[in-house]
Amino acid sequence: MSQPIPATLIPGDGIGPEIVDATLAALDALGAPFEWDRQIAGLEGVTTSGDPLPAATLASIRRTRLALKGPLETPSGGGYRSSNVRLREEFQLYANLRPARTIVPGGRFDKIDLVVVRENLEGLYIGHEHYVPIDGDPHAVAMATGINTRAGSRRLLEFAFEHAIATGRRKVTIVHKANIMKALTGIFLETGQQLWEQKYKGRIALDTVIIDACAMKLVLNPWQFDVLVTTNLFGDILSDLVAGLVGGLGMAPGANIGTDAAIFEAVHGSAPDIAGQAKANPTALLLAAAMMLDHVQRKDLGDRLRSAIDATLNVDRVRTGDLGGSASTDVFARALVARIVNS
Ligand code: NAD
Repeated sequence: MSQPIPATLIPGDGIGPEIVDATLAALDALGAPFEWDRQIAGLEGVTTSGDPLPAATLASIRRTRLALKGPLETPSGGGYRSSNVRLREEFQLYANLRPARTIVPGGRFDKIDLVVVRENLEGLYIGHEHYVPIDGDPHAVAMATGINTRAGSRRLLEFAFEHAIATGRRKVTIVHKANIMKALTGIFLETGQQLWEQKYKGRIALDTVIIDACAMKLVLNPWQFDVLVTTNLFGDILSDLVAGLVGGLGMAPGANIGTDAAIFEAVHGSAPDIAGQAKANPTALLLAAAMMLDHVQRKDLGDRLRSAIDATLNVDRVRTGDLGGSASTDVFARALVARIVNS
């Protein structure tokens, strides 16, 4: 038996508790070493303790430095600031890692195996926004400031190159808009090119592409890419795009990684339209849990989980509605557990 690994568990809002239950069932069947400390955040945090990111939740992650998180609801426009963004800032989770791999073949795109590495703390997502009132219109002008730093770009790009090499990838593509936002995204491109020349030339190929062309190329011929690394806003959009290439948000896991903490989650949100109906596909969170196992040096268990997911979907053909099947979240989870137990 390996040593128990303390980890924070945040079931989250909407479909969160349903997909977290399915994921815990799979992790239990695997004998995963996590010792969970269950905490709340998001809308559940607001309703039960008046805070979308309660102090106890922060204290737990400060102690464990490791978390599995269900989706958290954030109001659009006004209301409280995203707990996800606050968690990233609080624990300096500068790298957002989002792999997209075809698991269910026969979709519009087959054999996709891409990774988006997104800068998670800087750029246009820093929250420096305000309105300028003119002639009695309080929202006459809206302004936002983006900040990218040399140091922030460098550590993220270094993470992307190191991850690409460690996982046997062939190419890193820097995605930017340095032709228009010459300073804001130019610094990211320039830093990446310099870093590659200094440390990575000869170890992995480098390519660069402008964000709009990248979006088109990803739809026309996604196989030309391998690891895409980019700034915060572009990364947010591209990671949903690549999730679409492999069957939608129900299949897309994500990891937020910092120097000394990591939070694993599904890319999708709390799906209020299907919450409480046992329709949610837990695969994205299950794949995030597999990444969490890799992260704690239990790739053996991560691989077993990924193989069992594959077999449940493709051999047993147990699928939730978003994948054209009719299985409930629980039926899928039970089939997966049976696969794990027999693997
Ligand atoms: P969403 O991802 O929740 O839902 C988009 C669509 O995808 C919906 O039709 C939903 O039913 C479907 N969907 C999502 N996950 C699914 C799953 N696992 N199985 C089956 N179908 C699934 O996006 P939204 O509706 O724009 O956002 C809802 C809430 O989630 C908002 O409050 C938003 O702020 C929040 N959100 C949180 C996170 C996070 O915590 N990381 C990420 C994105 C959105």
